[in-house]
Amino acid sequence: MIDNIMEKLIEGNNQYQWKIKQDLESIETKGKGPKYPVLFLTCMDSRIDIHRIFQLSPGDVLVLRNAGNIYTKDTLRSALIAVYEYNVRFIIILGHLDCGMKKVNLMKLKDKLNITTLKMIMSQGTNVFLEFQKFFKTFVDEIKNIMYQVEKFQETKFFPANVKIIGMLYDPSTGWVLQDSEFSRYSIYENFMRDYKKIIENKKFKLIDYITSIESEIIGIQENKPAAKAWKAEDSSELKSSPDTVKITSQENIKVDTNQYVALQTILEKNSEMIEKTIKMVSKVQTPKIYVPKVKIYIPKIDKYKNDKSE
Ligand SMILES: [Zn+2]
Repeated sequence: MIDNIMEKLIEGNNQYQWKIKQDLESIETKGKGPKYPVLFLTCMDSRIDIHRIFQLSPGDVLVLRNAGNIYTKDTLRSALIAVYEYNVRFIIILGHLDCGMKKVNLMKLKDKLNITTLKMIMSQGTNVFLEFQKFFKTFVDEIKNIMYQVEKFQETKFFPANVKIIGMLYDPSTGWVLQDSEFSRYSIYENFMRDYKKIIENKKFKLIDYITSIESEIIGIQENKPAAKAWKAEDSSELKSSPDTVKITSQENIKVDTNQYVALQTILEKNSEMIEKTIKMVSKVQTPKIYVPKVKIYIPKIDKYKNDKSE
């Protein structure tokens, strides 16, 4: 793996180029500023993909990353550019559960570093642990860390009042993102984790509402389609010559705005892949997820029991 890492990356880029040609991937060529006035500061953790988590596209938002989503002079430098050059109005500190910065053993790390690095880290004092902690900015609580980094940005007073500095939490094991209103009230990490399941259950209920609304939207579009086609057919001599079409055009009470129809038609055509995916997702989610695992758990047990009996 290590030996052919460059080949792996170049192969990936070739695949990307192929996908661009096939219209399966897009590139953003316009401007350097983001489409949305948002700057993320997140962890370098390889499981976090801002664009996938929020279903964004290249060119949509600005992203800064470092180990532990930490406020530093350099993140401040970039944030100032983002706000004053690119009109960013939301600075979002997206921390995550299971952060590696919580697990770093500073004393073990110290043993791996060469003398030049040690001298650089220890240049300020003599307490090894404190100096290491100060340099690497490790923490013990992901939630407190997010709120602390938000405070650090706020304290600078370098940003205009209309810039919102917000904390968010990502769970790499489930893909859920929590807003600060869902976690900031927990001053003790253990209490948050105790309630975590409940918080996610609430989010799942909201997801069902969301999926249902998408589903009805899609069904609504599809139901409008034949009626709208018939409406269009009134002006088309070619279509009028078909008896079926004439039959449809004779229907009354077809209330479809032609502009709306064209817009919907365009949405359907342009996003057919997305809509298909959404429909699949809807049918997936509609199966009550709470019950499915129960079935899955019991079936093997029955099979095993039967097998054992027959032997
Ligand atoms: Zn992390």
